[in-house]
Amino acid sequence: MISVIVIGAGLGGIAAAARLAREGYQVTVFEKNDIPGGRAAVIQRDGFRFDTGPTLFLMPEVFEETFRALGERMDQHLELQRLDPTYRVHFHDGAHLDLTSNLVEMREQLDAMEAGSFNAYLRFLAEGYRHYHLSLEKFVGKNFYSIFEFFSPSNLPLMFQLKALVKHASNTARYFRDPRLQAAFSFQNMYLGLSPYEAPATFSLLQYTELADGVWFPKGGLYRVIETFTAIAEGLGVQFVYNEPVKSIDIEGGKAAGITLESGASLKADLVIANADLPYVYAELLPEDGSAQKLAKKKFTSSALMFYWGIQGPKSAELLHHNVFLADDQYKKSFDNIFKDLTLPAVPSFYINAPSRSEPAFAPTDGDGLMALVPVGHINEENPQDWEALENKARDFVVDRLKTLGLGDINSRMLFEETIGPNTYKQRWNLAKGSAFGLSHNFLQVGYLRPHNRHPRFPNLYFVGASTHPGTGLPIVLLSAKLTVERIAKEGPKP
Ligand SMILES: Cc1cc2nc3c(=O)[nH]c(=O)nc-3n(C[C@H](O)[C@H](O)[C@H](O)COP(=O)(O)OP(=O)(O)OC[C@H]3O[C@@H](n4cnc5c(N)ncnc54)[C@H](O)[C@@H]3O)c2cc1C
Repeated sequence: MISVIVIGAGLGGIAAAARLAREGYQVTVFEKNDIPGGRAAVIQRDGFRFDTGPTLFLMPEVFEETFRALGERMDQHLELQRLDPTYRVHFHDGAHLDLTSNLVEMREQLDAMEAGSFNAYLRFLAEGYRHYHLSLEKFVGKNFYSIFEFFSPSNLPLMFQLKALVKHASNTARYFRDPRLQAAFSFQNMYLGLSPYEAPATFSLLQYTELADGVWFPKGGLYRVIETFTAIAEGLGVQFVYNEPVKSIDIEGGKAAGITLESGASLKADLVIANADLPYVYAELLPEDGSAQKLAKKKFTSSALMFYWGIQGPKSAELLHHNVFLADDQYKKSFDNIFKDLTLPAVPSFYINAPSRSEPAFAPTDGDGLMALVPVGHINEENPQDWEALENKARDFVVDRLKTLGLGDINSRMLFEETIGPNTYKQRWNLAKGSAFGLSHNFLQVGYLRPHNRHPRFPNLYFVGASTHPGTGLPIVLLSAKLTVERIAKEGPKP
C-alpha cells in the first residue's frame, strides 16, 4: 500500500486525506493541536458556542461535490439553513441595508439610497455571475501544469472579461455613486483578507454567489463541517494523530523520505502532503534553499483581532446572524491602515456574528454570544506592533459602536471574553506573519503564479490549503484538496 503523511488537520488536510484514503492510499494525518479544523476551530464555554474562524457557508455546490467524491451525500450529514437577509450592513450615518435575495425589498432599499441604483445592482450581479462561472471553470477549479497553459491564447481574453487587471473598488464605483453602496458591494473582499483597492474586480463573483447561491448556516455551526469531514475521513481509514507537531520534512535522494516529529520519531512515507501554511512549511520544515525568503516578500492577507463574548441578558433584536459595520467616510483610509501601515484602522470596519439568531442553542436562554472580527494588519516583523494596545482600542471601538445600536454597555454584562489575534494565528496554527487568510490573491499570486501544489524539486511533496492554488476560504480549500489529489493521480504513485 502506498503510504501518505499529511501535515496538518485543517479542512484542506482533512479533505485531501479523505479523498486519498478513498482511492486506496494509507493515510496518516499529524496535527500539532488537540482538535482538527485548524483556524476553523470552536470555543465552547459556559453554555455558549462560537465558531472561531469561518462563519459564512458559501458555494454549497463545492461542499456537495466533496461529499459526492467521498461517496456521501451532504444532506445526510449537514442540516443547512439559508440565511435571508444574508446580513445587515450598518453605515456610519445610522442607515442600514439588509442584503436579501428578495428583489422587491432590494429595489426599495437601494433606490431609497441612490436613485437608479437597483438597476445598477442587477447589472453588477450579472457581471458577478459571469465572473463566478468563468473563473471557476477556467482558473479556480483546474490545475495549471505550465505557464503556457495559464497564459494560453484562449485564456488571455478571459483576463479582460474577468476584469483581472481592474481593481474591485474602482469597478464598484462604476456602478454606484453613493459611497455607502460602493462600500457595501466591495467590503466582501475582506472575507479573503484583501483590500478592495487591490483585489481584482473579478471578485464581484462574491456578491453574486452570496445573493444567488446563498449564505447558509449548518446546524451546529461551521465547526460541524469539520467534525463531519473528519468522521468521514476516519471512516475511510485515515488515521489522525493529534498533539504531534511535525519538526521537519526529511529529504533524501532528491525526494521527501518522510517526516520527523517534534517528539523525536522519524517516519517514512511514499508521499508527503503539507497542509500547514505553505510559507511556514518552506521556512520551518524544509531545508533552506532561498525559497522561504522569496515567499516572505510576497503579499499576505490581513490578520484579524477576534473577540468572543459571553454576554448576560437579552439578545438584541438589532443584530441579525451576520452584521457588518462599515467606516464609510474613512473606508479607503481604513484599508491603507490595514495593508500599508499594518495596523488597526483609526475608524475600523468590523463584523459581528450572532449565531443564536439562527440556532438558539449557541447561547443560554438569558444570554447572547457575540463574535467580533476586526480586520487588522498582519505582523510587522521589522517593527512589531503593540497588539495589546490595539486590541484594547478595537474592543472599545466595537463596544461603543454597539451602544449606538441600543445594546447598552455590553462590558458591564460580559460574563467572559476570549480573544484571538495575529500572534495566536502565528503561534497556534503556524500562519506566516499571523496572516489570517494566508497568501494574498492579487493578480501576481493566483493561478499558475501562485505557489504550486507540488514542490518544484521534490516530486512526492505536495501542498494543500489556503496559501496554495486556488486560495483561501473553506470551499476554495476544498477545491485545493481536489486539485492536489488530481495532481497526485496524474503524476504520483498509484495505489
Ligand atoms: C477569522 C476568519 C474568518 C474566516 N471566515 C471565513 C468564512 O466565513 N467562510 C469561509 O469559507 N472561509 C473563511 N475563512 C477562511 C478559512 O477559515 C480558511 O481558508 C481555511 O480554514 C483554511 O484551511 P487550511 O486547511 O488551508 O488551513 P488551516 O486551517 O490553517 O490548517 C492547517 C493545519 O496545519 C496545522 N499545522 C501547522 N503546522 C504544523 C506542524 N508543524 N505540524 C503539524 N500540524 C501543523 C495547524 O495547526 C492547522 O490545524 C476565515 C478565516 C479566518 C481566520
